[in-house]
Amino acid sequence: MENLQDLFDKIMGTARNIEEGRVAAYIPELAQVDPSLFSLSMTTLDGTTCSSGDQGCFFSMQSISKAATLCFAIETLGRDKVFSKIGMEPCSEPFNSIMKLEMTSSLPLNPFINAGAIVLTGMFNEQYGSLAIAEIVDFFSRLMGRQTRGSLRINENIYRSEKATADRNRALAYFLHNAGTLSGDVEEALDLYFKLCSIEVNTVDISVMGATLASGGRNPVSGEELLSIDTVYIVCGLMSVCGLYDQSAEFAVEVGIPAKSGVSGGIVCVVPGRMGLGVFSPPLNKSGNSVAGIRALAALSRELKLRGI
Ligand code: GLU
Repeated sequence: MENLQDLFDKIMGTARNIEEGRVAAYIPELAQVDPSLFSLSMTTLDGTTCSSGDQGCFFSMQSISKAATLCFAIETLGRDKVFSKIGMEPCSEPFNSIMKLEMTSSLPLNPFINAGAIVLTGMFNEQYGSLAIAEIVDFFSRLMGRQTRGSLRINENIYRSEKATADRNRALAYFLHNAGTLSGDVEEALDLYFKLCSIEVNTVDISVMGATLASGGRNPVSGEELLSIDTVYIVCGLMSVCGLYDQSAEFAVEVGIPAKSGVSGGIVCVVPGRMGLGVFSPPLNKSGNSVAGIRALAALSRELKLRGI
């Protein structure tokens, strides 16, 4: 992969040279991160990984966890149950918007906005009780081919920081509970949601997750069959139309592949039939997406013809 390594280094050198973007600060612990960190990884369907930049650096999944959570939800609860309480439509409002809920019969528009993800954590608590977090971390670890690299961990500082400053997510969750959309204990659903957002990964991890989706559900590193093709179609379909908050359409134009971002600055991408990609750079644009990450992915998409043309 020598030429690919050169291409990665070149693209990252160009994408890094920008002064735009701000690190997310509404979760105080996220503001502590070094804004100059930058990492890019690719895992192809033969299980080979290639990386560039600050490869080993860890970051919390934040909303990237919502794509992995949806995989787990469909596999374990079934499509019908999941989508009995959540829609499949894009959202033009910010990820933590309350306004849309009141206008849509109290059903979250999709599983990638906070309201949708919190409804799912409520369902997991009902199904698994106190075992929910262990079950999900185990599933995420297998999704990312962690069998030989050790299980994923929760970053306790980020978890506590998020839990202490979550007025808006609490407002969403209590609203959903009042409307009958979120069942079970509200604080426990929120607690599980905060833990999932705080799981630490690096770009290799999320590139393997992307590659598992790209292969149709088989993890190319471990060989484990993890997802049905229906799960892959649903998750990739939603990534295509609502993976990058209210910048999803622009991302489709600039990069053109299914992806999911998070406010820590990570983005996971799926190139169906070819590869998974993971990128991390903390400074965000006004939609909450990594500025340098998008720039690097746009360049890579053109150079490697990730859209097929
Ligand atoms: N934990 C974050 C929140 O709930 C996730 C936001 C995101 O990455 O979109 O506000």
